[in-house]
This record gives sequence, C-alpha cells and structure tokens, in this order.
Amino acid sequence: MGTSTEPSLKVIEPATETVLAELPHAGVEEADAAVARAKRAFGAWRAIAPGDRAMHLRRLAATLAERVDELALLEARNVGKPIGDARGEVGLVVDTFNYYAGAPERLLGDTIPVAGGVDMSFREPLGVVGLIVPWNFPLPIASWKVAPALAAGNTIVLKPADLTPLTALELERAALDSGLPEGVLNVVAGPGSVVGERLVQHPDVAKIAFTGSTAVGRRIGALASEQIKRVTLELGGKSANVIFADADLAAAASAAPLAVFGNAGQDCCARSRILVESSALDRFMELLERAVTELRVGDPLAERTQMGPLISAEQRSKVRSYLDGDAPVAIRGSAPEGPGYWLAPTVLCPVSNQDRVAREEVFGPVAAVIPFDTEEEAIRIANDTIYGLSGSIWTANGARALRVARAIEAGTLSINSNTSVRVATPFGGFKQSGVGRELGPHALDYYTELKNVFLATN
Ligand code: NAD
Repeated sequence: MGTSTEPSLKVIEPATETVLAELPHAGVEEADAAVARAKRAFGAWRAIAPGDRAMHLRRLAATLAERVDELALLEARNVGKPIGDARGEVGLVVDTFNYYAGAPERLLGDTIPVAGGVDMSFREPLGVVGLIVPWNFPLPIASWKVAPALAAGNTIVLKPADLTPLTALELERAALDSGLPEGVLNVVAGPGSVVGERLVQHPDVAKIAFTGSTAVGRRIGALASEQIKRVTLELGGKSANVIFADADLAAAASAAPLAVFGNAGQDCCARSRILVESSALDRFMELLERAVTELRVGDPLAERTQMGPLISAEQRSKVRSYLDGDAPVAIRGSAPEGPGYWLAPTVLCPVSNQDRVAREEVFGPVAAVIPFDTEEEAIRIANDTIYGLSGSIWTANGARALRVARAIEAGTLSINSNTSVRVATPFGGFKQSGVGRELGPHALDYYTELKNVFLATN
C-alpha cells in the first residue's frame, strides 16, 4: 500500500499523547488501485465452491484467534480502550468470522409457484464493496462488514478511520497469512474526504457500507444516490435507558455507568439519556453515585481499568462543551491528570429533554438524567429524538417491558440489560441512526442482490 512520496499519517496513542506509528497516507491513486485489485479478484472469488469460501472464513477466524492478545494490545493502545474490553472485542471479531463461515452454504433462494414453468430466486454477490469504518470500535465494526461481504462472494476495499488504522492493516495481513486469495480484501488507510469519497463515487464500487457520524452518512447517501449505489449506514445515537420505579434499582444503577461510560462514552449505543421514574429518582441517584465513583478510570493497559481516555484532544473539547449548559452536575467520577485525553465521567441531573446535551450525540463520558412520571411520558421522551439506535428498559413488569419496547422507535433494545450486540442478532438503527442491519442472518441481504429466473417448461 502506498508509495514513499505520499504524505505520512501519524497515529497517536491517546493515553500518552505520543506517536504510536507512522504510515503512508493513501490518496485517490491508492484507492483506485485497490478497487482495481478487488475487481480483478471478484470473478474467481464468487466462483469458488461455497464450501471453500466457508473454509477461507474459518481459516481467517483461526488466524485471528491466534493473534487475539497482539491485536487487543494494538487496539487498546490506539483507541485508549481498556485491554479487557479490547480482548473481548477481538474475541467478537473471531466469532463474527466463524458465524459467517456458516453462510456461503446457506445462501438459499426460493422456488416460487407460477404458471408455465419453474421460477427460482438466487442471491448474487454485488461485486466490489467499499467499507468505511470509524475509530471507536475499529476491528469489530470492520469485521461486521467484511465477514458477511466475503461470505456472500464480494471482494472488498476497507477504509479505516485516520485515527485508528492499525488493526485494519493487521486484518489485511491476517487474511493473506490465512490464505485468502490476493485482492479479495484490500485495506486503504487515507482521509475520509479523499479515499472515502473516492470509494463512494468510484463506478466500480457496487455498494458502500458505512459506520460513522450521521453528518458524514448523510453526505455519503447523497453522493451514492447519483449512481443509485447500494448503501447501508450505521450512524449516531442518543439512546434512552428507561428505569421504572418497580425495577431492580441496584442492578439498573450498577449497569448504568458502563452503558454510557464504556469506551469512554464513544459508543453509538451509549445509553446517554437515563430516564428515571420520579418516585425512584432519589434512591436511584444514590446508587448511581456509588457506581460512578467506583468506576476505575485510568491506564488502558491495566487489567482492572474500566474506562480509558478519549480518542483525541479535539474530541475531549467537543465533549467538554456539553458540560457548559444549564443542567447541574450531580455526580463526577475520577480521571488521571495528563498526559492523555482524560475526562472524568459526569452525570447531569435533572436534565430537560430539550437541553442540547439531551438532543445531540455527545460521544463522551457524559450522562443526562431525565425524570418522568408516567409510562406514556417515558415513551414520548425516549422517542423525542432524531435518533433510534438502541436503548434499555428496566422494570419487573414483563408486560410493561414488552409494551414499552414495542413503542420505542429504535432498532436494538434490551430489557433489564444494557447489552446491544450479539453476532447472531440484527443490529442497526431506526430514523437518522441509519439504514440497513448488520450481524445476524439479515446482514447477508445487504451484501447480495436478489435475482429471479423463470424457466419455461411448456
Ligand atoms: P466519521 O463520520 O467522522 O468517520 C467515519 C469514517 O468515515 C472514517 O473512516 C472517516 O475517515 C470516513 N469519512 C469521513 N468523511 C468522509 C467522507 N466525506 N466520505 C467518505 N468517508 C468519510 O465518524 P467517527 O468520528 O469516525 O465515528 C464516530 C461516529 O460513528 C459517531 O457518530 C457514532 O455514533 C458513529 N458510530 C455508529 C455506529 C453504529 O453502528 N450505528 C457504530 C460506531 C460509531
């Protein structure tokens, strides 16, 4: 990848503010070369027996499994995420490749009863797909796209975020080491406005799968529409964590901090609006204070750490700007002094859902507690947002839990839990949180075209 004349990209370690790596910064030429390689590789890759394609995915999973510690360390240093989280994420990546290794032999079509012949449907690969990913979960989000795209017979150009290109480059290396044919998976590390936009506009790229901000997603959607290019978008969120008075408050309060402050709040699924039934507010805040102040914020490479620094100085000042509003600070956790882009986890209470901190995606360790009085009010506030990615409902009343879950306009909800992602289940957003779904069997629909063939028999 790249030539010596290219500008170089300095990758910073957010916990130390030092240079972790320096690599060539690709441009349009490298993007075009990668698309050409992927296009050349497509014919052979789509044609190999489904069982052989499955074997390639399994081998890649096995190669990654051997490198879990090495990849986790790189991701922890580059993103500033706790090493335990990073290890779990690489495990999820291995699981994702193993899960989609089951897909090539199960891409079933239909036979459809019609007059005069036999009608069949097939799932065809799209061709070269362009995958553009963000910096918060670099390797997992790449794998959620790469694995189903490969399983369905597509070839790939993957563009990581400038802040975190290192594990994507390791993924490309692991793919080659595991025997994946050359040209099937190509990684190009370059600026979004140059390499990303080139992929979106390249006539030989059949589809873009993007995860990132709603603003960039909107631009990608508009550019892609000029070529009627297939697009899936996984965008921002402003998810509600709805806590009813009848819930197990101790469980809800102990889970709430990491539901916002995990990955230092840089999580599209962050439950950053904590909606609490007024009659339980005082008790919940007491429990929450204990849980937030006990949160272990510090060196990402220490095993016990639960929250690391933010990704950059720029991200930290953006997040700090949300603390300047009208809402009072109710709880403030701890954070180390510099160097490192540290910010203490902070809970604001009470917050109105009209406040800026409740309307915009903060993408940092700031939670807004919003009291409510009735189930209807909770649903109304939860839905009063442009986003619809995830959310949680905490209650002991099963019927209410399902009623509220069905009423919330979001793609990925959990009841008495704050988890969002499982390899086998669909993940994605309603409203401005995106278009399409990743993970589970549904992701394959977004990496294939449905073809119908009619064979006349009379
Ligand atoms: P971003 O939108 O700035 O960048 C995402 C990727 O797009 C990067 O690789 C970037 O280089 C590239 N890019 C930037 N401008 C581009 C352009 N004009 N054309 C093509 N590509 C371009 O997002 P980020 O700051 O890296 O990530 C944070 C955002 O990602 C948050 O909004 C978060 O909610 C969202 N996110 C969503 C999910 C999800 O699954 N819904 C998951 C993780 C992150």
